[in-house]
Amino acid sequence: MPDHPTEHRVLNPATEELIATVPATAPEEVDAAVRRAARAQTGWAATSAADRARLLRRFAATVDQHLEELAQSEVREAGHPVGNARWEAGNVRDLLEYAAGGAERLSGAQIPVPAGLDVTFHEPLGVIGVIAPWNFPMPIAGWATAPALAAGNAVLLKPAETTPLTALRLAELALEAGLPEGLFQVLPGAGPVTGAALVDHPGVAKIVFTGSTAVGKRIMARCADQVKRVTLELGGKSPNIVFADADLEKAAQAAPMSFLDNTGQDCCARSRILVQRTVHDRFLELLEPHIKAVTVGDPTDPATQMGPLISAAQRDRVRSYVPEDAPAAIRGSAPTGKGFWYPATVLAGLPEDDAAATEEIFGPVAVVLPFEDEADAVRLANATRYGLAGSLWTRDVGRALRVSRAVAAGNLSVNSHSAVRYWTPFGGFGESGLGRELGPGALAAFTETKNVFISTEE
Ligand code: NAD
Repeated sequence: MPDHPTEHRVLNPATEELIATVPATAPEEVDAAVRRAARAQTGWAATSAADRARLLRRFAATVDQHLEELAQSEVREAGHPVGNARWEAGNVRDLLEYAAGGAERLSGAQIPVPAGLDVTFHEPLGVIGVIAPWNFPMPIAGWATAPALAAGNAVLLKPAETTPLTALRLAELALEAGLPEGLFQVLPGAGPVTGAALVDHPGVAKIVFTGSTAVGKRIMARCADQVKRVTLELGGKSPNIVFADADLEKAAQAAPMSFLDNTGQDCCARSRILVQRTVHDRFLELLEPHIKAVTVGDPTDPATQMGPLISAAQRDRVRSYVPEDAPAAIRGSAPTGKGFWYPATVLAGLPEDDAAATEEIFGPVAVVLPFEDEADAVRLANATRYGLAGSLWTRDVGRALRVSRAVAAGNLSVNSHSAVRYWTPFGGFGESGLGRELGPGALAAFTETKNVFISTEE
């Protein structure tokens, strides 16, 4: 008997029904996949950038033809509301198109030096291992895969145990679009088995890991053995800072979906709502009707804004942060019966160092904490080991810029909660991660810079 799971059961988190059983990839199969990927990568890297771009655009078009099917699959395996899932499938198409353009523009520099010509090249790394979480199975798969392929690499993607289906379908669509066999393979399996085999394999040049900070640290340590390249997109506990001079109604209207989107299973969730003390109570009054208005329930209904949590284990974890006697300032509703449901919950009056105020809950729970002035807001915003995202609400442009610069996080938004765009760089400070994805630098992160000097001396 193998000492690892041979298959994974995929449940619909809204109904608890078994929707698929997916074979797990054993370590020796990972080795075979790496060899296939390396062979495919050699040919792919030798293909002209224009031809790579053409194939990636065809991949994008194939995804586009299957948008509804992919979205419905994401609804079933991840419990995402169908409106969100459609956006996510479209996001994969957009990522592929954006990366295709990047392939044609990825160029080195020509640097003035004495006595010669000096040029740099972006050489592809080789085989990239992408280890993805369950919270956004499709977009996160696309974030790394699209630019890595565009820059001339092969990709081996290990999806999360609970959500392998959309990733497996994307690999089929890649073949249908004409991408070479072996170039993009999906290897479902357990993290400590299939994921670890990718991390340890000497044929894998870089690991892009998105997931929890605890696992990210272990992966970084293992990569160190081979000085393997690593990008880490980890957890967060992001602040939503509301100053007294803000448009309070607008801030209150926007706050719910900034921590309830994806049922709070979002690394950028603004789950620490920091409110200037003079408007603290008023803000809570304004917030309450907006929390209660969030439509929770059947993810297949286009009107639904919030679906279930991913699993029973995740629901238990969320519950553990909200004791029965917790000072819940606001609580929304949730369906009863089958499915991993949890209501939107806002906690107020907790000490700043309470676990609910400092740890990533990854569920529909936020804490509200008061602050005194601008300096106190920055102190509180930075009182975390994380640094992924943050929002601030103010009408004072100078303050907006001062606070944005002072908050130690990778993605700040002013009078908005928008954090992720494929055009702009994304990543964390501190224990939220290492490196950046997306944006103009996305392809370069999958290359090694090579410098070549050509003497012009006679
Ligand atoms: P997780 O760390 O448990 O698992 C993530 C992936 O790593 C899964 O595919 C898992 O199978 C694999 N894995 C687990 N142990 C492994 C090991 N020893 N070796 C190799 N691979 C291993 O995280 P999760 O619960 O799936 O996802 C939630 C976490 O992801 C949250 O902390 C969240 O903040 C984070 N996240 C971060 C971002 C970001 O961009 N910063 C985005 C989404 C999610």
